[in-house]
Amino acid sequence: MEDRFSFLAEWLDPPAALLRRYQLFYYPKDSSVEMFDVKNQRVFLRRTRYEQLQPENLFLGNRVTVFSRQLHLVDYGDQYTANKLGSRKERTLALIKPDVVTQVGDVLERISSSNLLVTKAKMTTLSWTQAADFYVEHQSKPFFSNLVQFLSSGPVVALELMGDEAVSTWRRLLGPTDSSAARKEAPQSVRGQLGTDGVKNVGHGSDSLAAAARELEFFFPSAGGHGPSNTAVFSDCTCCIIKPHAVSEGLTGKILNSISAAGFQISALQMFSVDRANAEEFYEVYKGVVPEYPTMVTELSSGPCMVLEIHGTDAAQSFREFCGPADPEISRHLRPTSLRALYGRDAAKNAVHCTDLPEDGLLEVQYFFRILDG
Ligand code: ADP
Ligand code: MG
Repeated sequence: MEDRFSFLAEWLDPPAALLRRYQLFYYPKDSSVEMFDVKNQRVFLRRTRYEQLQPENLFLGNRVTVFSRQLHLVDYGDQYTANKLGSRKERTLALIKPDVVTQVGDVLERISSSNLLVTKAKMTTLSWTQAADFYVEHQSKPFFSNLVQFLSSGPVVALELMGDEAVSTWRRLLGPTDSSAARKEAPQSVRGQLGTDGVKNVGHGSDSLAAAARELEFFFPSAGGHGPSNTAVFSDCTCCIIKPHAVSEGLTGKILNSISAAGFQISALQMFSVDRANAEEFYEVYKGVVPEYPTMVTELSSGPCMVLEIHGTDAAQSFREFCGPADPEISRHLRPTSLRALYGRDAAKNAVHCTDLPEDGLLEVQYFFRILDG
């Protein structure tokens, strides 16, 4: 019998402000989808090929776009799907510690080449109390105050990773706790490559599923809570969005590396899933002005994106030049080392958004880091 995966999916219908529920079927054999309206008990979308839907994005809690609708996968639709896709998928917390926060691109590249998916990300600076809270299991250890001091000494990046055996996969990738031991025993590991010593050791990884659940709740609380604040400074800044297509192609790490290598300071970083209404609002100024407006909205709301605050005098102007002309084809001719020349595909999937007018830099940064992360 043909493989068929089934999910319960929710879609917020913006004009009606209604939550609609569908059963979503995915047939890997020919990459086709089918949707069934749960309330009205009828076929909503006949089986249709839809190659943009990546099977690796079909997991609980994720948002996928099917014909411009952003669907939230809230449950498995049948036992077969739960058994086949759900068995070994885990979530874990990865924390990039202050010693390597400027090399976060390097770490993300290693994560994406090990089949772990980044499903949440946030740069934050922990207070002494928050860091002590996070490491409460070590409070009686002699190194506790050193450790808390270090963890609260600068920005960190918290990541939710998802994948097969994510807890042990990420810890293996990190390597032994002490960086010098890591250099000897696991020279290819993240700590072996980027670590300094026993305290400054690049990252943290949850050591069990229970710890992962607690630590994810600490940084990314479920309903209601807010968690540690983002690090946006809201001055001398411009906004960069690594677009959903680039995130799903695994380019986030490479793009962050290019941005840092060009000397730009990333003062805030956070992953957002922008729904259609918010994408329309964010791009409002382009409506009726640029013909690509509808495709820009569709791209921005098609999956998670990574939003950055770039900080520096004249950041808007110089960062815009670094991104290159909006069309990657033109970028490749005129500015072959620009971000869009290197990572863009076409006019809508052009790897990054950057603020166009210097006076809009702060507004765009506020839209994400103050309003959407409010
Ligand atoms: P891991 O981070 O590999 O899970 P532990 O949970 O044992 O390691 O320790 C938490 C963190 O405390 C380590 O990542 C490291 O930063 C720090 N640490 C651990 N052991 C020592 C030590 N003996 N001296 C100083 N710092 C330590
Ligand atoms: Mg530990």
